[in-house]
Amino acid sequence: MLIMSPNYFPLQPSLWAATAVAPPPSTSLNERLKADVVIIGAGYCGLSTALHLAEQGVNVVVLEAEEVGFGGSGRNGGQVIPGLKFDPSELLKQFGEKRGQELVDFAGSTADAVFDLIDRHGLDVPHVRKGWIQGAHTTDALKLAERRAKDWAAQGVATRLLDRDETARLLGTSKYYGSWVDPRAGGVQPLSYARELARAAIGAGVRLFTRSRVTGLERVGQGWRAAVGAAGQVDAERVVICTNGYSDDLWPDLRKSIINANSFQVATAPLPESVRSSILPEGHVSSDARNLLLYYRIDHTGRLLMGGRGTFQEPDPTRVDHWSHLEAAVAKLFPQTAGIPFEYRWCGHVAVTRDYLPHLHEPAPGVLIDIGCQGRGVGLQTRMGQAMARYLVTGDRDALPVVPSGIHTFPLYGLRRLYISAVIGWYRLTDGGV
Ligand SMILES: Cc1cc2nc3c(=O)[nH]c(=O)nc-3n(C[C@H](O)[C@H](O)[C@H](O)COP(=O)(O)OP(=O)(O)OC[C@H]3O[C@@H](n4cnc5c(N)ncnc54)[C@H](O)[C@@H]3O)c2cc1C
Repeated sequence: MLIMSPNYFPLQPSLWAATAVAPPPSTSLNERLKADVVIIGAGYCGLSTALHLAEQGVNVVVLEAEEVGFGGSGRNGGQVIPGLKFDPSELLKQFGEKRGQELVDFAGSTADAVFDLIDRHGLDVPHVRKGWIQGAHTTDALKLAERRAKDWAAQGVATRLLDRDETARLLGTSKYYGSWVDPRAGGVQPLSYARELARAAIGAGVRLFTRSRVTGLERVGQGWRAAVGAAGQVDAERVVICTNGYSDDLWPDLRKSIINANSFQVATAPLPESVRSSILPEGHVSSDARNLLLYYRIDHTGRLLMGGRGTFQEPDPTRVDHWSHLEAAVAKLFPQTAGIPFEYRWCGHVAVTRDYLPHLHEPAPGVLIDIGCQGRGVGLQTRMGQAMARYLVTGDRDALPVVPSGIHTFPLYGLRRLYISAVIGWYRLTDGGV
């Protein structure tokens, strides 16, 4: 099958591309190589898997279609939040006491995985770890916040519930009924984190190639051959596919097993100190509890970032009106920013699965696929890479947080745009609040 390069929104207009550390040196693959494991995709998942494998003496090649962090890993909000879409009690109910508790422990450890790596490898990544505040925009959302805080507290986490006034003080907006705080969370410069992970992986012996889209996978003997155009190829015993929301048609039906929804972001100019000190003054990151959630934080350059829903199609970088709903949200939540211009507008794809859980697949001997993190993948994909590396080295399936399943395409995939527009319309009507 001929794999076409999809026409994605470029990484360059983002705040992160403008402020990140330089990428590690890399070239495209134009030769024939052998490795123990070939990894496809240089986002957090591929890079973390590669680093943790190489640290255990495995010979790894990483092939990236564009550049390190080109996918969600270089574009996200940089909020490092532990947990999955479902709360601990829901996971225990769904998966039973043993498996459910293992999954809760895994989900609870995802932020640690990021900050531990930054510390252990001395990664040059601006970061803070002051916690995540989830604001309740309605009284129902407040009940949800109370349940969530209680749920994680039962797991030993020092969560806090904030009343309306304390929420207003710590967020810098009076638009929420209350909130809860997860102290394990924090923020990173996401593209710097991806590039520094790549640098650490290369330092551990990983061979990384960019501008090297894998155009075919073929079973050869007991292993696999990954082809990069006509001139490049890697023969390896195992192949790990970490293409997530940027998956193409490399593996049959994989792309159609998720909805790759677009999430948009804007960033202001650096805030003057008088305004800066009124928004998230203690360094928390934040997102709210709506279905079409708003996520926001201050970055290391003192800018306010706001993220949220976007159009299904890739926006035109010159059409600033495509981001006007987020600028309006900033004006409503933070009127103190009036007159401060927006300097960056960008977007990226989030991989949403049917059951809102991360998916692993082993569709053929020697092939492992990771996909789907519902917009919360900075910690998850870092930790998942660690778990996948352990599984690949030991063969112990218990190292994996979820049991590998079959690849099932989204029902009515061809109609997904219609279907998503309808869901977004419904959520806009029912979300309420600001
Ligand atoms: C706008 C936005 C905001 C977000 N905000 C947050 C947040 O604040 N907190 C949070 O936890 N998560 C957030 N997320 C989610 C998070 O960014 C992702 O879950 C995570 O980065 C996914 O990492 P990954 O390594 O699995 O995939 P990706 O980083 O998407 O990497 C996949 C890579 O595979 C490459 N690729 C695809 N096909 C091929 C091929 N055939 N050959 C070679 N390479 C290929 C792509 O070029 C890409 O670089 C956000 C996502 C977006 C888009």
